[in-house]
Amino acid sequence: MKRPEMLGRVQAHSNAWDMIVVGGGATGVGVAIDAATRGYEVLLLEQSDFGKGTSSRSTKLAHGGVRYLEQGNIGLVMEALKERGLLLQNAPHLVSDLAFIVPNYDWWEAPFYGLGLKLYQLLAGKYGFGKSRLLSREETLEHLPTLKTEGLRGGAVYYDGQFDDARLLIHMVFTAFEQGATLLNYAEVTGLTKDSQGFVDGVVARDAETGEEFRARAKVVINATGAFSDRLRRTAEPSVAPMIVPSQGIHLVFGPEFLPGESAIMVPHTSDGRVLFAIPWHGHTLVGTTDTPIADATLEPVAMEQEIEFILSTAGQYLGKAPTRADVLSVFAGIRPLVRAAAVANTAALSRDHVIHIDSSGLMTIGGGKWTTYRHMAEDCVDQAATLAQLPERPCVTHHLNIHGFHASAGQFGHLAVYGSDAIEIRKLIEDDALLGEPLHPALPYVRAEVIWAARDEMSRTVEDALARRTRALFLNAGAALEMAPVVADLMAAELGWTEIVKAKQVAAFRDVASNYVLC
Ligand SMILES: Cc1cc2nc3c(=O)[nH]c(=O)nc-3n(C[C@H](O)[C@H](O)[C@H](O)COP(=O)(O)OP(=O)(O)OC[C@H]3O[C@@H](n4cnc5c(N)ncnc54)[C@H](O)[C@@H]3O)c2cc1C
Repeated sequence: MKRPEMLGRVQAHSNAWDMIVVGGGATGVGVAIDAATRGYEVLLLEQSDFGKGTSSRSTKLAHGGVRYLEQGNIGLVMEALKERGLLLQNAPHLVSDLAFIVPNYDWWEAPFYGLGLKLYQLLAGKYGFGKSRLLSREETLEHLPTLKTEGLRGGAVYYDGQFDDARLLIHMVFTAFEQGATLLNYAEVTGLTKDSQGFVDGVVARDAETGEEFRARAKVVINATGAFSDRLRRTAEPSVAPMIVPSQGIHLVFGPEFLPGESAIMVPHTSDGRVLFAIPWHGHTLVGTTDTPIADATLEPVAMEQEIEFILSTAGQYLGKAPTRADVLSVFAGIRPLVRAAAVANTAALSRDHVIHIDSSGLMTIGGGKWTTYRHMAEDCVDQAATLAQLPERPCVTHHLNIHGFHASAGQFGHLAVYGSDAIEIRKLIEDDALLGEPLHPALPYVRAEVIWAARDEMSRTVEDALARRTRALFLNAGAALEMAPVVADLMAAELGWTEIVKAKQVAAFRDVASNYVLC
């Protein structure tokens, strides 16, 4: 995948596309895969990097949502559990099952959670992961040796899926591309064009690298901009009622010493009535999340002080050694694109989790949902879009579509496992030049070849792309990522022909962003 080639395709395309998708997160890229595999001509435009929005900032769980079960939303849980199973089948190099343990400190918790989690397991049917069961106090501590022992009675274990969100996304971009879609990052949609009857028939966009504006026509424009959805809707119709209620969630990342085993902790009820997870992820401990209403979405949201304190104190209630600010290696925030159901009057297709909404201008917006259900959301959306655009009806084929890099035993590639079969290409780079096998930082497993691969084949355009979303350095250890930046800039400069000035600007821009991930 090369950006200049994608841009060339856009410039050469004088006809109307069947569909233009705005937004390169899980939702938009999922729609691009679905549309391309049905044989529709599709263009996706992302204003920043693929996954720059919420889709790189999740808890990284492919899950049915235990908490929806408690709310009695069985249909939603079953749908998500099925998608979880399909995701594991279609991307085994990127999704794995993980044991989650609910520690029990009260007498009623074992029967209550034991029963609920058994139901959760049963609802997955043939898409089931491991079997849930009750654990003795000793077994619980074997799985979670760092758990607070005072008052601990035992635990309940259940299984869910875990993945690397930004990496899955880039493999999805690859998948869409291989199916014929054109996907361009750093291309912001700044306006929508309309036909003589006032219906949206295309977009005005700006290439962020050159500043040049371009136009593209489409039979239908799909707004998959997540928390930014209302902004694009207002471009077409300034008076539309908002449909998104943005809510921020943050995560703190610690070293592996806080969760040395291979199991995660799930706290079903925090003091603010939410679920809290502590999860082993890429050799670190990921703890989150919060749910803080915010006024408006920004592309680089910042964790609030009270959110940080909340996670530290809640984690401290469950861990033998309470983590402190000094232990935090990285902090990141994301924005949930929750849908305000009441605002959506003329809704074309409604599942309880996601919403497909068509404004009177003909702009189609897909909102809500979650990472886990992206494939199902895309299927619904493309069904509706094809009808709206009067395209020939074609069935969805993504149920059993392998995601790029598919590899049944990627574990053999060590830390390159997340690349699936692409790990072979990265190893070849190292075979040709042993220097590329050198680690970029002693605290993280990443090697130079990954930066080369990302710039050459994964449309990585900035130092931040390489450190935040192609590798996950920024999310795992922001201090280490800051130290890696100059070398990454050198490597990328050689690939992308940057001057010394561009290189310095890239490092400075990365430092700016990374400062939000470091706790002072
Ligand atoms: C804290 C947190 C934890 C979560 N954990 C989980 C989890 O464990 N499992 C799970 O299944 N789900 C989880 N979710 C939900 C999941 O992450 C989101 O539902 C999903 O990522 C939303 O994807 P999206 O593509 O709709 O939005 P985004 O990923 O935000 O993508 C929208 C994109 O549109 C782009 N864009 C905006 N305006 C324009 C424009 N004018 N032109 C071009 N591009 C534009 C943005 O740059 C952005 O990249 C979590 C969410 C949060 C906030």
